[in-house]
Amino acid sequence: MEFLSPSTWEEALAAKSGRPEAVPITGGTDVMVELNFDRRRPGALLDLSRLPEPAQWRAEGGHLRLGAAVTYTAIVEHLAGHAPALAQAARSVASPQIRNRGSVGGNLGSASPAGDCHPPLVAAGAEVELASVRGVRRVPAREFYLGPGSSVREADELISAVLVPAPAGPQQFSKIGTRNAMVIAVASFCLVLDAGARTVGTGIGSAGPRPLRSPEAEAFLAAEFDWEGGAEPSEAAARHFGALVAAAAEPIDDVRGTAAYRRHALAVMARRAWVWCAADYRKGAR
Ligand SMILES: Cc1cc2nc3c(=O)[nH]c(=O)nc-3n(C[C@H](O)[C@H](O)[C@H](O)COP(=O)(O)OP(=O)(O)OC[C@H]3O[C@@H](n4cnc5c(N)ncnc54)[C@H](O)[C@@H]3O)c2cc1C
Repeated sequence: MEFLSPSTWEEALAAKSGRPEAVPITGGTDVMVELNFDRRRPGALLDLSRLPEPAQWRAEGGHLRLGAAVTYTAIVEHLAGHAPALAQAARSVASPQIRNRGSVGGNLGSASPAGDCHPPLVAAGAEVELASVRGVRRVPAREFYLGPGSSVREADELISAVLVPAPAGPQQFSKIGTRNAMVIAVASFCLVLDAGARTVGTGIGSAGPRPLRSPEAEAFLAAEFDWEGGAEPSEAAARHFGALVAAAAEPIDDVRGTAAYRRHALAVMARRAWVWCAADYRKGAR
């Protein structure tokens, strides 16, 4: 196996263009598992872990620009104020060792429906930046995923960054698993409120072939949320919101849980997310 080790981002793009089949490696927390279990034998690995650009972040025009190699640890330690739901999700990933290596770009590269970054990125209306020698394009996270392990990224493209809109209201991420740590989500849910625009974003994880959202639940909550005072929802309204979220899921039965359990869990997480967001709203998270 060849190991391509570019020393600049431009060299990395040129290498990917010349060898589109080369497998990028950032933190390696997914790639190395696949190699170790002999699930993948690529002819070449393209090492992105030494490049400075993808590890950087900055606020840019109403967005947080997160380089693809920014780790979960960096998000938790430095970026909770800029991307609260993503930071909540990052806190829930694996162990400190994995959080020190694993990156948002790697999560997108794997495009697992269970990846924890996806619901916050979908709910917040983030964009994924893809780069190649042909140029740079930005794709809404909501359109990035095609199916398990598959995305709109072309073979010669690398994920350069993710652009997350600055928070404009409360955000909540929650995840159900068989235990609290070191667990792949059985189902996950994210709710993002924009108090200025009075709009709502949802993100559903691990309950479909790709991360999903519920436009019906978003429209319902945008109309029902108490944008003046952040009052608690009625039991009936919260249940209806949960039911709309559950209905948008496309879950399957697998080793981690049944489709029915996933729908139930989503309904519960959605109701709680509304209650928690309303409480944050009353405390001034606008
Ligand atoms: C013990 C363990 C626990 C885990 N727990 C969780 C968890 O709780 N939640 C969760 O979501 N994930 C979990 N994971 C999976 C993994 O840690 C995450 O998916 C992580 O975000 C991968 O990031 P990475 O930088 O290590 O990616 P890598 O392993 O380097 O790459 C992952 C994929 O993305 C591609 N890639 C990497 N960088 C780029 C780029 N810039 N452009 C294009 N493609 C790229 C690679 O080719 C590969 O296909 C766990 C893994 C392990 C081993």
